[in-house]
Amino acid sequence: MKSNYIAGEWVAGSSVRENINPSDVSDVVGHYAQADAKQAQLAVEAAVDAFQAWSVSGVQARSDALEAVASEVLARRAELGELLAREEGKTLPEAQAEVARAGQIFRFFAGEALRQGGEKAPSVRPGIEVEITREPVGVVGLITPWNFPVAIPAWKIAPALAHGNCVVFKPAELVPGSAWALAEIISRAGFPAGVFNLVMGPGSEVGQALINHPSVDALSFTGSTGTGARVIAGAAPRRAKLQLEMGGKNPLVVLDDADLAVAVECAVQGSYYSTGQRCTASSRLIVQKGILPRFVAALRERVEALVVDDARKPGTQIGPVVDQSQLDVDLEYIAIGQQEGARLLCGGQRVQRATEGFFLQPALFVDASPEMRIAREEIFGPVACVIAADDYEHALTLANDTPFGLTAGLCTTSLRHASHFKRHAKAGMVMVNVPTAGVDYHVPFGGRKASSYGPREQGRHANEFFTTVKTAYTAP
Ligand code: ADP
Repeated sequence: MKSNYIAGEWVAGSSVRENINPSDVSDVVGHYAQADAKQAQLAVEAAVDAFQAWSVSGVQARSDALEAVASEVLARRAELGELLAREEGKTLPEAQAEVARAGQIFRFFAGEALRQGGEKAPSVRPGIEVEITREPVGVVGLITPWNFPVAIPAWKIAPALAHGNCVVFKPAELVPGSAWALAEIISRAGFPAGVFNLVMGPGSEVGQALINHPSVDALSFTGSTGTGARVIAGAAPRRAKLQLEMGGKNPLVVLDDADLAVAVECAVQGSYYSTGQRCTASSRLIVQKGILPRFVAALRERVEALVVDDARKPGTQIGPVVDQSQLDVDLEYIAIGQQEGARLLCGGQRVQRATEGFFLQPALFVDASPEMRIAREEIFGPVACVIAADDYEHALTLANDTPFGLTAGLCTTSLRHASHFKRHAKAGMVMVNVPTAGVDYHVPFGGRKASSYGPREQGRHANEFFTTVKTAYTAP
């Protein structure tokens, strides 16, 4: 049984949760302690106690500890990737790439701990010096989703610790294995007790306890729009600092002048890889009429040939849906799309494999219109719909016609359209001739509108959330 980690000790929870493999529901990945609200509070108190010393600790110690995590995560990439694929259902290559990315993130922030500096400004008053520096925010609560069980925790935990904050980490219920493995590595890396704490458990109890606790100075959350709204409602009134990453309904625009092979590859990867369970997935394929018949025919051929099977089986391209309830959501949207009048060109059925798992044949809708629910609401599954566009301007209007604004993609060979799209797409991240999903680990990540709230994650810009600015005046 894997325990929670509070104040430098491994502690049992108030109940236990089975971790099930979505490729084979008879395979129990492990048993994980579930904390309750009281334990979440103890973890916050431990973090508060540790903050006094950690917030002024030497940057070499922080960097060394982060580097120790990075080295071990990278060295154990194959094994941790296997665990990730087994509990979450993304394919082994995707899972190992995610683990590698997590290791690189820790390495980046090991460096970032040393790269902190301030500014000096001339005062408008003679004889006074002005210094502008950054200090840690305090105790940060990190609440993460199941779709990137290692990378998202890494990109929150690493900057939090690099900048001198103390962490209470609550992973998603479905993926405690990867979270626990990462926590176990962190527990041996040299951080003082209480600086990093792990509380596994239900969002409604453990997550909510972090939202409500007055000593949690900042909350970084990734998950659904509904829970994001709860975080704001619960923590904004007490003026906690907030960083939220929520849904997406990302467009991939394909213009008549696109390279067809590039466009099809972007659509296949962006819409279906990781079983479409990425907030950056391209679920709206907005295609100009001239290329539409060729694009749809070529895409259909690729989608029908995708190998859906056990996440760890060699050759699998699309692993299972993460669990029964997400599968139900996907199937419901596939039914809704047909009722709304879109045409299901291929896929969309549950399929059987050697083991009992949540396997879904990737679904491609055509003849969709922008007001349909399948074109407006995030599904979070291997489901994409094609919407026809008359010309570039129409395509841009359709692309921006969404409550979300995480990524926006364009396939074109026109420099003019590429430049215009980069400037006018209402999204935090724009991808030209590359899939909407798949980002670098060292540059900002985040969106606009209903997708995100608060400062960006990742890279140097992470300091906007994980530090607070101080302006000091001195008359020497
Ligand atoms: P998803 O649809 O990806 O599961 P959720 O928003 O439900 O999205 O979950 C994302 C994270 O938020 C998970 O760690 C989950 O446990 C947590 N969570 C869910 N409900 C709450 C809540 N009421 N308060 C705090 N955290 C929550």
